[in-house]
Amino acid sequence: MVDYKKIGLVNTRAMFSKAVDGGYAIPAFNFNNMEQMQAIIQAAVETKSPVILQVSKGAREYANATLLRYMAEGAVEYAKELGCTNPQIVLHLDHGDSFETCKSCIDMGFSSVMIDGSALPYEENVAVTKQVVEYAHRFDVTVEGELGVLAGVEDEVCAAESHYTKPEEVIDFVTKTGVDSLAISIGTSHGAYKFTPEQCTVDPQTGRLVPPPLAFDVLEAIEKKLPGFPIVLHGSSSVPQDEVDTINANGGCLKAAVGIPEEQLRKAAKSAVCKINIDSDSRLAMTAAIRKTLAEKPAEFDPRKYLKPARESMKKLYIHKIVNVLGSNDKL
Ligand SMILES: [Zn+2]
Repeated sequence: MVDYKKIGLVNTRAMFSKAVDGGYAIPAFNFNNMEQMQAIIQAAVETKSPVILQVSKGAREYANATLLRYMAEGAVEYAKELGCTNPQIVLHLDHGDSFETCKSCIDMGFSSVMIDGSALPYEENVAVTKQVVEYAHRFDVTVEGELGVLAGVEDEVCAAESHYTKPEEVIDFVTKTGVDSLAISIGTSHGAYKFTPEQCTVDPQTGRLVPPPLAFDVLEAIEKKLPGFPIVLHGSSSVPQDEVDTINANGGCLKAAVGIPEEQLRKAAKSAVCKINIDSDSRLAMTAAIRKTLAEKPAEFDPRKYLKPARESMKKLYIHKIVNVLGSNDKL
């Protein structure tokens, strides 16, 4: 049993309550490798932001569960070395699919887990979420549950269409399960193809696709039912079109990739939404930088030469999200 507190991690409880009161959101950045982790920690330290290092089940399988746990421990020490005296870093499981996966993460030093029972019938979602909460709270690990279904594909999570969270269910769900935060579905979506062209309108000036707006009425109805309760948005990448263009100009083929406009996320961050998940944007920034470097220098074969610009590009993106979208800078 690894005690996350002993390795310098924190759970989300105090972090979320400050974020809800302060009208900002904590960044939850997914990571799978060293360069991503370095970029996230550098960005968080430079902006004095709390941060959630988020790991999916697929990332654990890819990177190795033991290695990831030590990388998170390393992240805390690295932040201190960079000059942060009190880093606020959470190691969080993204989309836990079962009690066993969540338990395995809790036993290996995660300070927060998500149990995603959103694809299950309501009563089964309640039962498995409650089971995870009971185990997690024994170790002061916080738990995120989910109600409603997001469309899109990301790692092993996949749904053809979205179903908005039903505001009339949230009080019952939170009371019965004891979750610390709730992921909701209000029109965000997983992956780099968040909407089909048919769901979008076209900006007459740029010719770019403009996605449908988020369902802020659903968010407001949920906030009324659960005043001050921490709400989470998944699938909240904005899919920067300059990164998509760079990828496509250098041998890539991303057609009609579209994300959530940043002004909508800014609006959400000011509400009870206190955690915003961003994964695809980092993937795009990394891929664009690697493709560009390799296209410009075809003889290059030293991974450091193309991973370094990739890391810098991701760091720039993380700083932009923290300062210009989520507002979590200067909160340590
Ligand atoms: Zn998600």
